[in-house]
Amino acid sequence: MPPKINWAEAVKPLLKKYKGKKHPLHYSNRYELLVMVVLSSQVTDDLINQLAPPLFKSFPDMESMSRADEDALKPYIGKVRSFFKKSKWLVEIAQRLKSNDKIPVTMEELTALPGIGRKSANVIMREAKVKPEGVIVDLHVLRVAPRVGIAKGEDPKKIEEQIMKVIPQDDWDIGMVFSFLGREICRPTDPKCSDCVMNPVCKYYQGSKKSK
Ligand code: SF4
Repeated sequence: MPPKINWAEAVKPLLKKYKGKKHPLHYSNRYELLVMVVLSSQVTDDLINQLAPPLFKSFPDMESMSRADEDALKPYIGKVRSFFKKSKWLVEIAQRLKSNDKIPVTMEELTALPGIGRKSANVIMREAKVKPEGVIVDLHVLRVAPRVGIAKGEDPKKIEEQIMKVIPQDDWDIGMVFSFLGREICRPTDPKCSDCVMNPVCKYYQGSKKSK
């Protein structure tokens, strides 16, 4: 049987590299972040960064968004995957919250809003710098965590739970940290394992060395 890995220790070099690093979405306040997070599901952050400035020029806050409809939003975000559904969610969120300062920062309140699941809530809470209630599991983490061996399966919620069990809460930024690793080094094809600080413990890398 392979030796049991102390993950809290094993991820320290990775945390050192990426913990607290600025989020790739270029937002300037919590309203913009929430809108961009909703839009970015299944879409690249780059596309959302490109579309955001004209969108926020016309819809600068919750109040203006609450008066919008799909037709008004289409010229700005019509290219975004699931535009129809996402625009409905955004208008509904804005109508419920009414102003930027009503945006909540708890898991329970955020996930009660339409279009906001645990991943989005974890991102908003991370950027608000409140105590984390979970670990971000985006598409990068979904790939990287099973490769490294810290979690198994394909279900984001189960992957999040497995990570939360082995990493102390103070280091729950590990989700975003794995996401940065996935964006920069642990790419879907041809991961740059020789440059990766996780290679001493990585299941994929250690397995690939044995098979050579
Ligand atoms: S060692 Fe390779 S497979 Fe493992 S996390 Fe790093 S880049 Fe990904």
